[in-house]
Amino acid sequence: MGKVLIIGAGGVSGVVVHKCAQNPDVFQEIVLASRTKSKCDALAAQLERKIETARVDADNVPELVALIKKVNPDLVLNVALPYQDLHIMDACLATGVDYLDTANYEPPDTARFEYRWQWAYHDRFRQAGLMALLGSGFDPGVTSVFCTWIQKHHLDEIHEIDIIDCNAGSHGQPFATNFNPEINIREVTAKGRYWEKGKWIETDPLSVKQEFILPEGLGSLNIYLMYHEELESLAAHIPHLKRARFWMSFSDNYLKHLEVLQNVGMTRIDEVEYNGQKIVPLKFLKALLPDPASLGPLTKGKTCIGCKVKGLQDGQEKTVYVYNICDHEECYKEVQSQAISYTTGVPAMIGAKLMMTGVWKGEGVFNMEQFDPDPFMDELNRCGLPWKAVIL
Ligand code: NDP
Repeated sequence: MGKVLIIGAGGVSGVVVHKCAQNPDVFQEIVLASRTKSKCDALAAQLERKIETARVDADNVPELVALIKKVNPDLVLNVALPYQDLHIMDACLATGVDYLDTANYEPPDTARFEYRWQWAYHDRFRQAGLMALLGSGFDPGVTSVFCTWIQKHHLDEIHEIDIIDCNAGSHGQPFATNFNPEINIREVTAKGRYWEKGKWIETDPLSVKQEFILPEGLGSLNIYLMYHEELESLAAHIPHLKRARFWMSFSDNYLKHLEVLQNVGMTRIDEVEYNGQKIVPLKFLKALLPDPASLGPLTKGKTCIGCKVKGLQDGQEKTVYVYNICDHEECYKEVQSQAISYTTGVPAMIGAKLMMTGVWKGEGVFNMEQFDPDPFMDELNRCGLPWKAVIL
């Protein structure tokens, strides 16, 4: 059906590239470009199919525009970092190409997760007849699709959403993050925030916790209330919503290390003077921590991400829980990545597939819950992320 240009060659990209390569009918040609071309070449070498690679600095719009013109893709799939989102969207507008990403824009100097910067592109994409799909990972991404599927098939009105992201697996390292350490730590150390009765309620970072019993005998974990970007788009797009919260599991060991790193200033994102040079402590910490891609062969156990959604059907209260369980070792066997990258990369490929085949189409900037969830849910079952729905 066409050609995709994938930007970024990290952990998530590794999965996207494998999954696109597994669907040659849709992704007839694949070009992978990133800041470090050798990383693109290393990913390309894992595939049985030939793909093209290129070097690009995605913060440099003229350079991006030149690459997009040369490649002439049907879609640009952005799996670089959130800092590049607006630059890549600018380049897509300049070249007339559709856009997809997995995480909302963040300004480098403040850890603020808001859609307003990207939503501000809506009219320009609409006028250009282009589509931008935001947040096509697992969370954000599949979590919104789970909610709209529940809304379509089980409830007349959604009142409460609890998104619960658990990792019951382990990589055996003293401290490591499962995706980009800088983005992960910025997110986890930010204030908690949830939506209730039309207002945002703020909580201190990781100050609200509860025990969660995972399905299918996976045991129990402590989950912590956090802010997560899909809360903003769900609050905007789900009518009747009274409360939306996001929870993530963390081991005591992870939290102990994080607390010490915070206390000594290693998670700061402002510049400090060191030996006559300016450094950002969190960027320096990232350089010391294990590369998430290196955790693939080490990680064992399972992830379980799902949405517990409560509302009304025929005037009666009903709660539906939809979840996916993903096995780190199975993912590694298939695409040489652990489940965190897998659960992000597969939905990115599915979003791209639905756009390139015209199953999901629109003009403007869209979030996942604005489309029919059924084709996406079918693809999840087909592409390695099967889900279950239970009535609680
Ligand atoms: P990585 O750090 O592993 O990979 C990021 C890649 O982007 C690297 O290859 C990096 O290049 C490249 N990159 C960074 N800056 C530039 C630039 N200026 N120009 C070109 N390439 C650049 O991150 P992950 O793979 O873990 O995460 C990728 C994205 O996925 C992030 O936006 C993250 O927030 C998102 N994500 C979304 C999730 C979801 O469920 N929705 C879950 C997990 C992640 P280099 O190798 O040279 O450093």
